[in-house]
Amino acid sequence: MKQVELAPGIFHLQGGSNMGLAVQDGKGLLIDAGLDKDAARQALRAAEGLGVTLEAVFLTHAHADHFGGACFLQQRLGVPLYAPALEAAMMEHPSLEPLYLFGGAAPIGELRGKFTLAQACRIEHVILNRQDAKNAKEIRGDLAPLASSRGTTPSNTQRGDYTTTKVVTTGKETTEVVTTNYPLEIGPFRVEVVPLPGHAPNQVGVAVGEVLFCADAVFPAETLEKHKLTFCVDLDETLATLRRLPELPYARFAPGHGPAYEAGEEIARACAANRERLEEVRERVYAALEVPQETPALLQQVADAFGLRMTTATAYLLTQTTVLAALSSLERAGRVAVAMESNRLVWRRT
Ligand SMILES: [Zn+2]
Repeated sequence: MKQVELAPGIFHLQGGSNMGLAVQDGKGLLIDAGLDKDAARQALRAAEGLGVTLEAVFLTHAHADHFGGACFLQQRLGVPLYAPALEAAMMEHPSLEPLYLFGGAAPIGELRGKFTLAQACRIEHVILNRQDAKNAKEIRGDLAPLASSRGTTPSNTQRGDYTTTKVVTTGKETTEVVTTNYPLEIGPFRVEVVPLPGHAPNQVGVAVGEVLFCADAVFPAETLEKHKLTFCVDLDETLATLRRLPELPYARFAPGHGPAYEAGEEIARACAANRERLEEVRERVYAALEVPQETPALLQQVADAFGLRMTTATAYLLTQTTVLAALSSLERAGRVAVAMESNRLVWRRT
């Protein structure tokens, strides 16, 4: 694993899946936990090498390659875990990842490997965004079942635009914070939680000082080249995130894969390449709908058009998610509609 210092005391741990490590006053804050305990051990060694003990781990989104090592760190060190709502639920119930990839049915064996099924961990600090709070309307009501199931007492405090809900458990404190760029205090660290939805439903970035750890909001050129159809669950949200990312006021952007980007031209160019790719995916899906098609036929045509060769069921199912995200984006825009024909689910242009 390569350790790159992006700003004083802020490190990018670059490996199969990157992690972030901020150090201050003898403490370390880890951002993401890697694929498995081997990756987590490497992060621990990096922390030890810098002479710090881990204060907490912040997990950006519930993909196994980013939180698979969290269980090990939690069991080994007892460090508290932070994660955004929904993603947190999937981390606590990781069978949801292979389940959704397999269309909601009991997944095939291949999807039960560590790349799509991580070990479960317990998220002590669940971060709510404003939309979550709005949806919940009555935060107290929303959290009450959670609170009571954990034997807790919720209490609310308002701070300007943001609502902080504290759920106090006996002997342990669980904080549910409603935030967008609201600084969150984790030990000696002040971090900003930045919503970056699209690649995962409620993915967030974590900013420490002038560095934004931006998870899988943007992929390097090698990933675009290898996977062609980069994974996303909501294409419109992914595009919006890619448009917003270069405008954010940080000096460096540290992604979950590949090296970090400087503010300005560098991050703007990477985001534009990612955006262009997804727009191209959507247009190729639309182009293939010259005649009405079922999803598998569309998937095959679009993959062929990009020269993508999928050799595992996992690769196929991940690509299928992106094609479906393109279809729901087109449907939302009123350009395609779904119809049933002779027991076939068919997509057609409107
Ligand atoms: Zn991811």
